[in-house]
Amino acid sequence: MTNIRKRRLSVSEYVQGILEGNRMILSRAITLVESSRPQDRRLAEQVLEEIMPHTGGSLRIGITGVPGVGKSTFLESFGLYLTGLDKSIAVLTIDPTSQKTRGSILGDKTRMEELSNDPRAYIRPSPSGKSLGGVHEKTRESMLLCEAAGFDIILIETVGVGQSEVAVEGMVDFFLLLMLAGAGDELQGIKRGIMEIADALVITKSDGDNVARSKIARRQYQNALHLFPPNKTEWYPKVLTCSSVESRGMKEIWTLIKRFEEHMKERDFFHQRRAEQNLRWLEESINCYLLEQFYQDPNIQYLYGDLKKSVSKGKLPVSAAVRKLSEAFLNR
Ligand code: GDP
Repeated sequence: MTNIRKRRLSVSEYVQGILEGNRMILSRAITLVESSRPQDRRLAEQVLEEIMPHTGGSLRIGITGVPGVGKSTFLESFGLYLTGLDKSIAVLTIDPTSQKTRGSILGDKTRMEELSNDPRAYIRPSPSGKSLGGVHEKTRESMLLCEAAGFDIILIETVGVGQSEVAVEGMVDFFLLLMLAGAGDELQGIKRGIMEIADALVITKSDGDNVARSKIARRQYQNALHLFPPNKTEWYPKVLTCSSVESRGMKEIWTLIKRFEEHMKERDFFHQRRAEQNLRWLEESINCYLLEQFYQDPNIQYLYGDLKKSVSKGKLPVSAAVRKLSEAFLNR
């Protein structure tokens, strides 16, 4: 173990360390899957393949909401509630608004100070890359590593400001949307689509003067949700309230999540949802891979540059440009 911190680990050292729940090796494995260096990618792939049979055992929960809604405070409170039930938890955070790997708003561990000192909790910020697809591929892989390390619950947090919450919904069993009482939907940047994919809504900061307002908001959102047609799972999203600073509402949220899990498992939707997510992941990865191959090809780059000029001047139809590019790509 002396030099293990520094030297390159073998596939079996990674696998063994992860399966033993060794946090240091788990962290290194996550760094490995986050790396885009080709030799790291190959090693990461081997590690992932080996740990696959040990994945799938955790409950995956996604949490989203606009900046300031109280996500990190909620994660701290909810996380401590869960570790209090003797559950081990891994918290993965994605911050698509920041390009920085470390020191991003979500990446700051001090946001969940008490939880990060809890031995049953493991907190890991995901880096924010330029490509959304890339970030989520890595988050999915990190999630699998955490599962193999034996965590009961994986919490994936993302800022609800764009596409990232849709991507997170595509990798979790239960998707929770945090909302503020008294703020208009536009203010919260909440699109109808996001409410539709949420399995539950929680109105945060239901304490002090805000209690009455959060109760009204709860009723309003519950009514609004009734307007959406039920999806095939026949689960009707619920609206709850909580106060993270007073640690209230956590038990109700957990009970709801357990009820959801039961509902989905009884109807065989739980595994069906995961299977669909895996296939979507495969499709997205193929799309990403092909696009990358296409745009990185030097001949394509050259030809594309030329064709863009002709297309922008209206000299060449788009369809002809696409045909020329695809022929060049296929014959490369
Ligand atoms: P995030 O940006 O969504 O992660 O939000 P934070 O967790 O950083 O919280 C934003 C602000 O709301 C902070 O000033 C928190 O102290 C405050 N806050 C969070 N949760 C609660 C709560 O349950 N009650 C009250 N009164 N304030 C809260």
